[in-house]
Amino acid sequence: MNIEIEQKYKHAYNLLQGIMESPKNISIFALDRNYQYLVFNKNHQTITEQIWGDKIEIGSCFLTFIKNPLNREKTKVNCDRALAGEAFTIIEEYKDLLHERHWHEMVFSPLKNDDGDVIGLAVFLTDITERKNAEIKIAKETIRRRILIEQSSDGIVIIDKDGHVIEANLKFAEMLGYSLKEISSLHQCEWDAKFTPDELTDMRNQVDEKGDHFETTHRRKDATLYDVDISSNAAMFGEQKLIFCVCRDITERKQTEKELLKAKLEAESASRAKSQFIATMSHELRTPLTSVIGFSDVLSTNTSEKLTEKEQVYIDNIRNSGEQLLNIINDILELSKIDSGKIELECEKFFVKEVFDEILPIMTQMASKKNIDISVNNEIPFETIFADRVRVKRIMYNLLSNAIKFSPDNRIVSVIVDKSDSTIKVSVSDMGIGIPKDRLKDIFNPFTQVDSSDTRKYGGTGLGLAIVKQLVELHKGIIWVESEEGKGSTFSFTLPMKELNK
Ligand code: ADP
Repeated sequence: MNIEIEQKYKHAYNLLQGIMESPKNISIFALDRNYQYLVFNKNHQTITEQIWGDKIEIGSCFLTFIKNPLNREKTKVNCDRALAGEAFTIIEEYKDLLHERHWHEMVFSPLKNDDGDVIGLAVFLTDITERKNAEIKIAKETIRRRILIEQSSDGIVIIDKDGHVIEANLKFAEMLGYSLKEISSLHQCEWDAKFTPDELTDMRNQVDEKGDHFETTHRRKDATLYDVDISSNAAMFGEQKLIFCVCRDITERKQTEKELLKAKLEAESASRAKSQFIATMSHELRTPLTSVIGFSDVLSTNTSEKLTEKEQVYIDNIRNSGEQLLNIINDILELSKIDSGKIELECEKFFVKEVFDEILPIMTQMASKKNIDISVNNEIPFETIFADRVRVKRIMYNLLSNAIKFSPDNRIVSVIVDKSDSTIKVSVSDMGIGIPKDRLKDIFNPFTQVDSSDTRKYGGTGLGLAIVKQLVELHKGIIWVESEEGKGSTFSFTLPMKELNK
């Protein structure tokens, strides 16, 4: 009988031992009322060795292995709670010998005899370090994401496909005048004041990972409105579609745009008034001036009444001054027409050479007064250009007359015409006074003259080059100048050979 009981007991013991050893990451042990080991599984022995560096044995005192007095006290309190009959679960953190952090979930239960007296305690300890580390990682990631979205100077809101707020940053809440808590229970319809609920639903359905960009109006908590620029895109989180919206308050930009537009309209209207004034004035000045020039012509060519030499000089003076004045008025009128966009080019296809054939005789006459030679260096390409014939002559006239005007006597003014892919390049070079480097950049501005002193040697108004530049640009060409003071200047411009697509 005794042997039978002993066998049964042995069988039960082995069974229990098997159960204790089977879970791989759980350590199990039991202590008596003096905290001495009654039993433990292999796992517990391995883990305690890792943590304490000592090998535990049946009968040895659990608490004496714990070197750190604070930890020992903490553990004793837990054991005493179990010894007082309480069953409970706690999670604690330990460092092993290598100072690696371990998290243990410990289930404490009192051990009772048949009479119900507590004779010790049992502890089930699970190493949950992996789970805990994953939780810490997720928590850190959440904080990092939060910091990132909080650092944005734009409002950020994440909504689900139905328009409910999932997350928002403080900036977004502030823009709308709500607290973060209030924002989290809002729906997109409550702040968007421009689109209808149906339109918003459509927009949410349509937005994808490539994103969308639009402007809208938001309504603050206090019902005031402001303009917003939104960049949104969508991403799938499992089954859930989330829409990320970055919102920028553009009220100020909109206001500036409105003011700029107003200023532009005002400036355009002022410019129109100025052009109108100039046109009227020029017309009014031109009429009497034409009479002055005409009658001085009549007087000087009138052979019936012989003029004295002095009278002839005076009349020539009147006519020359009149012509000079007429030129200035014509220049001002031309520039103001270009400025106000009133000029319409009358473009046609013609040979480049024709312009030179027409203009060179006049220019040669002007040059001969200073004994200046005009040489057309290259063979003028036998090509057609598509341009306004009168304006091209005007460009050439202005550049050549400047080259002659700013050259000392007995020099050469040369013209080179080149052809590239789709343009004709014309360069007018002289060996004249040149232009200082620091004046080159504004030489094409109206009324700019290098010598602006009262005792100016060369006549002119400073309008010629401004007109030339505008005319070249109206033809979609470009103009530039290279010059060296005292050595000479080269003005070059391009013109298209074919009609440009409008
Ligand atoms: P204007 O000749 O009537 O003064 P422009 O607009 O034609 O007006 O020229 C502006 C200024 O540019 C001139 O006053 C002169 O100082 C300078 N300039 C123009 N062409 C030349 C040139 N070929 N050589 C030197 N200076 C020049």
